[in-house]
Amino acid sequence: MFLGKHSSLWVDNSDDLDFDSLNGDLEVDVIVVGAGIAGLSIATLLKKEGLKVCVLEARKIGHYITSASTAKISYSSNLIYSHILSNFGREFGLKFKEAYFDGFNKIKEIVDDLNIDCDLREVSFYILSEDETKNDFIDTELGALKELDIPGKVVDKVPYPFENVNKTLVYENQLEFNPMKYLHGLGRYIYGGGSFVFEKTKVLDIENFEGFKIAKTKNGSVRGKNIVIATNTPIYDPDSVYKHLIQNKSHGLGLLLKRDIKDMFIVSNPFHTLRSTPTSKGEMLIILGEHHSIGDPTDRNVFYKNLRNYSDNVFDVDSFEYFWSGGDNLTEDRLAIIGETSEKGTYIATGFNSWGMTTSMISGIILRDLILKRENSYLNIFSPLRFKDKESKIEKEKIEKFKDVDIKFTDSITKTVLKMDNDSGKIINCELGILAIYKDSDSNSYILNGKCSHRGCRLHWDNVERIWECPCHGSVFDYKGNVIRAPAIHNLEKKY
Ligand SMILES: Cc1cc2nc3c(=O)[nH]c(=O)nc-3n(C[C@H](O)[C@H](O)[C@H](O)COP(=O)(O)OP(=O)(O)OC[C@H]3O[C@@H](n4cnc5c(N)ncnc54)[C@H](O)[C@@H]3O)c2cc1C
Repeated sequence: MFLGKHSSLWVDNSDDLDFDSLNGDLEVDVIVVGAGIAGLSIATLLKKEGLKVCVLEARKIGHYITSASTAKISYSSNLIYSHILSNFGREFGLKFKEAYFDGFNKIKEIVDDLNIDCDLREVSFYILSEDETKNDFIDTELGALKELDIPGKVVDKVPYPFENVNKTLVYENQLEFNPMKYLHGLGRYIYGGGSFVFEKTKVLDIENFEGFKIAKTKNGSVRGKNIVIATNTPIYDPDSVYKHLIQNKSHGLGLLLKRDIKDMFIVSNPFHTLRSTPTSKGEMLIILGEHHSIGDPTDRNVFYKNLRNYSDNVFDVDSFEYFWSGGDNLTEDRLAIIGETSEKGTYIATGFNSWGMTTSMISGIILRDLILKRENSYLNIFSPLRFKDKESKIEKEKIEKFKDVDIKFTDSITKTVLKMDNDSGKIINCELGILAIYKDSDSNSYILNGKCSHRGCRLHWDNVERIWECPCHGSVFDYKGNVIRAPAIHNLEKKY
C-alpha cells in the first residue's frame, strides 16, 4: 500500500530554521520549556511585554505534536459549547467563549503585527451530520450557541464532496495556516535582545534555589524567577496532572486531488477531520482520522489502510503524498489545563483536547497576565489546581490494564530473538525483567528496558513508525531507546 513519504506535510513544506543548542549558563525573566505552538505562543506574548525569555527545545521547534496537526484555527471545536453549558452553566460558558474569542483574535493580530508569512486564510468550518442520528446533537449545539451569543448557523447545503449530508453546523470566517511557518515566524521574533531560543537542548532537571528556577541541560543551565512547562504532557508536574490526561492517537494523510477542496470539515461516523493547504505541488488535502488509544493492539497498517480506503471512496484522489501520526492529550472535563501550579513561579499549559492552535494563544494570554500580576477574567476556568489532591479514576484503570502479570515468562532472550520476524518489535518477560526488543531488517536486535522511564508503564510497539509508546502517559521512544516525546525525560536503558 503506497501512502507517500513518511513525514508530516508541515515539516516537509517549511524552510529550515536552525537555532543553536545551549552551551553555558544564562539568566532571564522566564524560562519556557518546549517549543511547540504552546511554548512559542507563550514566549511571544511575554517578550512583547518586555520580558526576557529563554525557550529550551529538546529537538526542533514544532517537530512533535504541532506538526502532526490539521491546524484549524477556530473559536469552536467539535460541539463544545453544549458540553460547556450543560456541565458548567451560562456564566462559565460566557467566560469560556471570551477566552476562545480572545485567543482566536490574538492569532490574527500576531500574524499581522509580526508580518508572518504562514499561508493564513479565512475559511468556513463545517461540522457535518451525515445521518439523522446526529441531528439532535447539531440542534443542541445550535441552542448553546444562541444562548452564548456565538455566531454559527445550521445549513442544508455543504460544498463538495459532502453535498449529500444531513444537518450541518457552519462557522464562517474561521482560520487556517501552515503551523510550521507560523512557529518559525514566532521563533525569529523571540530570538534576540536578551531573549533566546535553543534547539537540541533537552531539559534534564528543574531545581528551585533561593527563589529561582534552574533548568538544567547537558551543557548548561538557565535560571529565572518563573518557569513555564510547555512540553505537552508536562515533564515537571507539581500537581501530577499527568494522571488526569487521556492519551489517544490519530493517523494522517496528505493527498493531491483532481478537484480541490476549500474550507475545513469535521465529519462524524466514522470521525475524520480535514482541510487543504497550498504546497509547491498545489493545493493538498490533509485528512486525519482512525483515532485509537495508544495501547490498542491493532496492527497500525490497518489504520492507514482504512484511511486510504475512505479517501479513495470520498475524494477523487490524484496521488498520496504523505502519511504520519500523532496524538494530543485530552482531559476528562474537556477543559485545558493552564496556569500556575501549587509551586509558586511554575506554570503549565497542557490538555488541549486536539484544539491547541487557539488554546495555545489562550495559554499565552493567561500566563502573561499571571506572570505580570494582571487581572484576567477567565484564568480560573483552566486552573491546574482543580486536580490537586484529586484521585484519578483513569490513572487507576491504566495502571490496572498495563500491569505485567499477564505477560508469560520467557526463559531465553536468544530464542525469542531468533523466533522474531525481521523488522518487528516485542515485549517479553524474562530473568532481566520486562524487555522491549526490536529486530531490524538486517536481523540486528535492540534490547531495552520495556518499562517507560517516566512512571514504569509497560511500553507498546508501533510497527509502522518503529517506536515504543507508553499507553499510560504518552511518552514515545525510538527503537534505540531515545526519548522523542514527553513526559519522559530519560532514554530507555539498554539491557543487552
Ligand atoms: C491529529 C491531530 C490533529 C489536530 N488538529 C488540530 C486542529 O485542527 N486544530 C487545533 O487547534 N488543534 C489541533 N490539534 C491539537 C494541536 O496540534 C495540539 O494541541 C498542539 O499542537 C500541542 O502543542 P504543544 O506545544 O503542547 O505540543 P508540542 O508541539 O508537542 O510541543 C512540545 C515540545 O516540547 C518539547 N519537549 C519535550 N520534552 C522536553 C524537554 N525535556 N526539554 C525541552 N523540550 C522538551 C518537544 O520536543 C516539543 O517540541 C491536533 C492534534 C493532533 C494530534
